[in-house]
Amino acid sequence: MGIAPMTRWEGAPKQMDPRYIAPNAKSMIVMGFRIARGSLRGVEEGTLYTTYPSMGYAALNQIYAPMTLWNLTNFLEDEGHETVAMLNANGGEAINPVTGNFRDGWSVPVGDEKPHPDVLVHFRLAAFLAGLGEIGYSKVFLTPQFGPRQRFALCLTDAELEPDPIFEGKICDRCMLCAKHCPTGAISTTETVKVTVAGHELEWAKLNPLACEAGIQGGHDNELNPFLKEYPRRYGYGRAIGGASGCIRACMDHLEKKGVLQNKFSSPFRTERPWKLDHSQPRPPTDDVRENYIETGRIEDADAYITYNKRDNYGTDKDAKAPNPLID
Ligand code: SF4
Repeated sequence: MGIAPMTRWEGAPKQMDPRYIAPNAKSMIVMGFRIARGSLRGVEEGTLYTTYPSMGYAALNQIYAPMTLWNLTNFLEDEGHETVAMLNANGGEAINPVTGNFRDGWSVPVGDEKPHPDVLVHFRLAAFLAGLGEIGYSKVFLTPQFGPRQRFALCLTDAELEPDPIFEGKICDRCMLCAKHCPTGAISTTETVKVTVAGHELEWAKLNPLACEAGIQGGHDNELNPFLKEYPRRYGYGRAIGGASGCIRACMDHLEKKGVLQNKFSSPFRTERPWKLDHSQPRPPTDDVRENYIETGRIEDADAYITYNKRDNYGTDKDAKAPNPLID
């Protein structure tokens, strides 16, 4: 957790300045929620993909962070301080949070001096301003405790709190493993972006956000996606099957092996080369599947799940025109 005075936002573009959300706020409290290393294990092994989107994403953004924010907000309100609790949830911003472009025709300002709703707060810059770490070359936030393994939530409050100093250390060593391991090449190795915040010049790689979107879903050509059918969504994060191959997994492994992170483990995360997938080659069922399922007749079509999903609990097709006597 780190605290920044709101004045550290001085110079921020109006559309991204949280002082327009809470003009009376004096302090911003930013909290980092650790992504458990084990939530990436199944993706690293190529054998279980749900743990990362559920425990590494949704459980933090949708359960743990809001509960903590709720408690903190209650505490501050009991002390008489208005507090705006903010989750890292996207939806209504006038700036597209993926591309960073302004959405023409999306909204109008409600006053001459006001920005267009909704203002988009840059959580990684917020974490930097609160002294939690630095933005790495990959643009993923790195902390001395966990490297790239955390998500953020924050609150703006009119309580005047003692600020934390801005982090002046160096975690990212520009090893470029993030760029090398990103299956879609979303992280440029040659072009960078520079911004100045609170008197500090920050620099990170120029990102191709749409390539990043493809990477999340397993790569441009499904290089990191072993699923042949539409993968079910998990709490809205179901497509995170790329498992942040470069920007989190490669980076984390590198920083852990360098010994620069405070969270130490008894065994290394990666002990062999990351697996590769070649969709042009046929992959016959394993011996286990052949012996225990195919030969015993315990086999069904992969679309059975989709067919099941389209039906209600009574087994009736949800799209059917005819009324269902049990529920209509
Ligand atoms: S992989 Fe290397 S270059 Fe990329 S963010 Fe991590 S430390 Fe920096």
